[in-house]
Amino acid sequence: LVSRKWRVRPTVLDLGDGVRIGEGTLTLAAGPCSIESEAQMESIMQHLVDNDVRIMRGGVYKPRSSPYSFRGLGMDGLKLFHQMARARGIKIITEVMQVSQVEEMHDYVDVFQVGARNTQNFNLLDALGGVDKPVMIKRGISGTLEELLSSAEYVFSGGNEKLILCERGIRTFETASRNTLDLNAVPILKEKTHLPVIVDPSHGIGLREHVAAMALAGVMAGADGIIYEAHETPEKAASDGAQTLNFDESARLIRNLRRVYALR
Ligand code: PEP
Ligand code: MN
Repeated sequence: LVSRKWRVRPTVLDLGDGVRIGEGTLTLAAGPCSIESEAQMESIMQHLVDNDVRIMRGGVYKPRSSPYSFRGLGMDGLKLFHQMARARGIKIITEVMQVSQVEEMHDYVDVFQVGARNTQNFNLLDALGGVDKPVMIKRGISGTLEELLSSAEYVFSGGNEKLILCERGIRTFETASRNTLDLNAVPILKEKTHLPVIVDPSHGIGLREHVAAMALAGVMAGADGIIYEAHETPEKAASDGAQTLNFDESARLIRNLRRVYALR
């Protein structure tokens, strides 16, 4: 069902209020790795509004490698995130980690994110097949493209056709970067599927100084959009500060992404 052989026309998702994801538009989503506080959200939302970015990312349920790391503000954080975003015309993308969260989060999100550690959580994918909200599935940490497409097939065959795929880097033998952003994935996925393909250069390389270069490369490789981490003070971020852009870097990247997209 997710194959181009089955549907030739590219899938375009409409989030409402003129926000679209898919061919014909460059989708930009930015925000902190974790939702931390009202003040933090206030500053990032102002940055997004100033730069006409309509989608904000931010986790309230965080999959952390260590149980002692900050694990997110949960539903209290999401409700505040939702209220503040609505007031500013911003759409929300945030990670859902387990089946029980699908229902509680449903009314407060615009796009459910399935994280790289849950790409093959088939119960979660089944549950998301039953909702009427878009789902962005990230590629598994060591997942093949075929596995990513199979995960999308779970959701699609469950009845939810509002899907987005995200290349976020894979684990390789290379240790110079956090992950290896697999730009090959972009043209290959665009050839194989009608679904929108988004690149996450923050997790893809894991190094702030190189996030912009990989984001621009992602667009030139044919991505329908970019999702990256941004924060007023990345060095103070509760998670993933090392791969998070400050507002100056983010504003410059947004300008350059629009220029590069126009050249395609
Ligand atoms: C995130 O988006 O902050 C995240 C945890 O991403 P991933 O699942 O790609 O590691
Ligand atoms: Mn992160």
